[in-house]
Amino acid sequence: MKSKQKQQQSTATTLLWFRRDFRLVNNPAFSFAISQGGPVLAIYIENTGPDLSWRPGAASRWWCHHSLMALSDKLAEQGVELKYFHGDPGKLIPSIMHESGATTICWNRLYEPEELKLDQSIERSLDELAVHKFDSHLLFPPGTLLNQQDQAYRVFTPFWKKARVKLDFEGVNPVIRKQRKKITGYNKKLLEECSLGELALLDKNNWHTKLNQHWVPGEDAALKTAKRFIKNKIETYDTQRDIPSVQGTSKLSPHLHFGEITTTQLVYSLLREDWPGTHLSSVERFLTELGWREFSTHILWHFPHTVSKPMNDKFLNFWPKKVNQKYLNAWKTGMTGIPIVDAGMRELWETGSMHNRVRMIVASFLTKNLGIHWLHGAKWFWDTLVDADLASNTLGWQWVAGCGVDAAPYYRIFNPYTQADRFDKEQKYIQKWAIESGKHGLTPIIDIKASRQLALERYKKSNRS
Ligand SMILES: Cc1cc2nc3c(=O)[nH]c(=O)nc-3n(C[C@H](O)[C@H](O)[C@H](O)COP(=O)(O)OP(=O)(O)OC[C@H]3O[C@@H](n4cnc5c(N)ncnc54)[C@H](O)[C@@H]3O)c2cc1C
Repeated sequence: MKSKQKQQQSTATTLLWFRRDFRLVNNPAFSFAISQGGPVLAIYIENTGPDLSWRPGAASRWWCHHSLMALSDKLAEQGVELKYFHGDPGKLIPSIMHESGATTICWNRLYEPEELKLDQSIERSLDELAVHKFDSHLLFPPGTLLNQQDQAYRVFTPFWKKARVKLDFEGVNPVIRKQRKKITGYNKKLLEECSLGELALLDKNNWHTKLNQHWVPGEDAALKTAKRFIKNKIETYDTQRDIPSVQGTSKLSPHLHFGEITTTQLVYSLLREDWPGTHLSSVERFLTELGWREFSTHILWHFPHTVSKPMNDKFLNFWPKKVNQKYLNAWKTGMTGIPIVDAGMRELWETGSMHNRVRMIVASFLTKNLGIHWLHGAKWFWDTLVDADLASNTLGWQWVAGCGVDAAPYYRIFNPYTQADRFDKEQKYIQKWAIESGKHGLTPIIDIKASRQLALERYKKSNRS
């Protein structure tokens, strides 16, 4: 009986569903698939199902395309072919299992509302024992960090305090062994599979080609970026992270979003090191930023409606429905005449990214000075950021707009000129991206002082009603 079971275990195919975990190291679903002993059928499905409201934007799809290429090469080295599909994963997965004869499926969980629904629908359509799900996207899965009343934290500081203590006491334990076991790939052609090109992830108008100059997607590049940052930059992170003209941050956000590296790997590398006292505040600061990623995903899990509605109900009808398109277009194209805002928006257009400090400045300008709903800004970021992440983007926008959890109060309106004086004193960032904006030509589309005053009055009025 035992030997029959063993034989069954070693011959049945395991379906390994890659979602946004494009790595082989510290990937519990991948390790599980190998441990089953039979052929591994590795798949990626581009979700074109009807229910997806936040379909990945152009920059994100560019990243995904290249990251899949890198993943496919890595899997091929192990003898496994990555197979591509497009359609509704809820329908495709049962049919792939049926056609391939796979008896087991495994994946690493994602926590966005629509991904969770998808999990449920797939689980409902399969045998309970066939499904194996793992947590690796975060340090702590949502729902495992609650306050004393067993409720979600709505404020970052106590949330992170609790998480940080857990990290010190329990540590993290990434599986970072090199894969030695021989893997058998499932290499038969399946009816509905297609090529990577047929997923059509690359934008037809070729905007994305410029992204090649700035980014290298994939697990190897992620590890290299992390190592370089920890070796050369982390010691000054605390003082440099707010200066947009220097490369003082890790640039890991798109790698983390696509799961080419995990926060567990980063935290493990940082906590096992014996840092000199002078570096400690920088290391702690960096960990805290990883904590914000964690926090945003927990918040979205607890409050899924926040992808389109403000966390704070008071702001439900705060912004006018009718949008001033002239203002919105000037903002998107970096033609507002406010140098730091234009610099940020052009950096975004050219590189698919924007420095965090400048993200806050441009978001405050849009939602407060221009009086435009945060969702319009969030959607533009969603389409143009290589690190576009539903949880972090939603939290970031609502935080700045003043309507989210633990948000900057609405009346704290960033003055883009004083921000530039403080964080771009020598105007290096502005000179790089928007030299002709401001003094050299463009007239500001709005008066900063007057629009600030208007925003405050709008806020006071809404508070009274
Ligand atoms: C309006 C707005 C929108 C944003 N949209 C996104 C988004 O779509 N995707 C995204 O990853 N980040 C977003 N952020 C957060 C932040 O700007 C980026 O994570 C950061 O700029 C990425 O650069 P880095 O990797 O060099 O960060 P580092 O400073 O090196 O930080 C390390 C990591 O910590 C995480 N992190 C840092 N700051 C934050 C934060 N405020 N919230 C959540 N996670 C954080 C990221 O994963 C980041 O890679 C947004 C912030 C604002 C104000």
